[in-house]
Amino acid sequence: MSATQTTQTPQSEQKVSVEEKLYLAKYKLDERPHLVVLDQDVCKKCAQINGTPQPCMLLCPADVYKWEEDKKNVVSYDNCVECGACRIICPYTNIEWKYPRWGRGLSHRYG
Ligand code: SF4
Ligand code: SF4
Repeated sequence: MSATQTTQTPQSEQKVSVEEKLYLAKYKLDERPHLVVLDQDVCKKCAQINGTPQPCMLLCPADVYKWEEDKKNVVSYDNCVECGACRIICPYTNIEWKYPRWGRGLSHRYG
């Protein structure tokens, strides 16, 4: 290769941010929440012990969990990308998690 030639990153190797990837996701809302915080008092205790934001909020790539001023964990389950990580990270097993009902939830545009 001569010194004047430039190299290009192949399209498949270009970096894509999480936000861009999430933009490609499509959702069909399941009106019945597929993830539920079982006990808000446990989330309050979690905040006292672990600080805020708590583990589920730090981990979730889709900002599903938000700690509100009135000390409540608000769950926007319709943003969930179904990775399942929050049910593992919660130190108090305080998240009930299952996949959305058949035909609902997340689908990917490109595989
Ligand atoms: S990690 Fe678990 S207990 Fe802590 S705020 Fe999240 S859901 Fe609540
Ligand atoms: S399953 Fe993944 S995307 Fe969905 S709420 Fe849990 S951590 Fe967030």
